[in-house]
Amino acid sequence: MKAITVEPKKPGTIRYEDVPEPDIRDGSLLVEAVAVGVCGTDAETAEGKYGWAPPGKTRLVLGHESLGRVIEPDPAGRFKKGDLVVGIVRRPDPVPCPNCAIGEWDMCRNGQYTERGIKQIDGYMSDHWRIEPEYAIRVDAGLGMMGVLLEPTTVVAKAWEVAIEVGRRAFWEPRNVLVTGAGPIGLLAALLGKQFGLAVHVLDRVESGAKPDLVRALGATYHTGRVADLEFEPDIIIECTGVGLVITDSLQKAGSGGVILLTGVGSGGPISGLSIADIATGAVLGNKAVVGSVNANKRHWYKAGEALARADRQWLSQLVTRYESPANFSKALHRGPDDIKVVIQFSAV
Ligand SMILES: [Zn+2]
Repeated sequence: MKAITVEPKKPGTIRYEDVPEPDIRDGSLLVEAVAVGVCGTDAETAEGKYGWAPPGKTRLVLGHESLGRVIEPDPAGRFKKGDLVVGIVRRPDPVPCPNCAIGEWDMCRNGQYTERGIKQIDGYMSDHWRIEPEYAIRVDAGLGMMGVLLEPTTVVAKAWEVAIEVGRRAFWEPRNVLVTGAGPIGLLAALLGKQFGLAVHVLDRVESGAKPDLVRALGATYHTGRVADLEFEPDIIIECTGVGLVITDSLQKAGSGGVILLTGVGSGGPISGLSIADIATGAVLGNKAVVGSVNANKRHWYKAGEALARADRQWLSQLVTRYESPANFSKALHRGPDDIKVVIQFSAV
């Protein structure tokens, strides 16, 4: 079979090549790949900036936003031939830490977790892949190709759960939510915010195109410019850019008792003229909570599946702005200005 593989931490080593069929030790469920979404982590790994090969190997099969079709069911019969499934990304650490021991691998304490397509386990960008049935999630058949959005939706489902949990530390009636960044994560965060019945505002740099249209189609409000210039105080801010100035503005802009949920990953860049102590003082006097959130556990995969099943299919389909064949992997990894989510399609859904 063929797979998209890379030698992690070595730029220019990515290729679409022949590899052996997946090992039965990877899981009893054999799956034919339908599609794999591409995200920033894949691009970084392809550029030699990230990723770890499986123990004893030099190359890693890329890809963690999966969608596939069962071709050989598990012996226990939890899945049947033809089921559409998505594979969970993270596996608990072997120690295990207390969180991994109870299935909260997204909250791993010791960093020894592994991740398919990222950290020490082959990913899903191969014609076939195997998976342990307990780490496979059945996709609502009506979702079809949009099942490929399940993994990014799990990240958002967890972020929302954390924001709501933290907000409940006191009497709390959130009304306004601000989502910074209108990429796939931001747009899916906005979708969930609308499903929760909140007034949703989304801020991004672009002034036209698919992003503003998709935000408005949700019944949410689209903004450009600086967070500091917005004319309302958000109760919740879901930060999806990782941009320094957007983060510092968000910390100041959130209303008293507000929750700033950080999901963006970035580095460097300018921030506003305020010092950390100034920003912290604002957080203290306003009872503001700043929380980071990454990854997702099985509960979030379930919630994400429910959220996608409730969403408008037509709206979801517009999040995928481009499909590429596996042989065209380099085009798929390059994100254009109008791209939201690019998907590598292995077979028809
Ligand atoms: Zn752990």
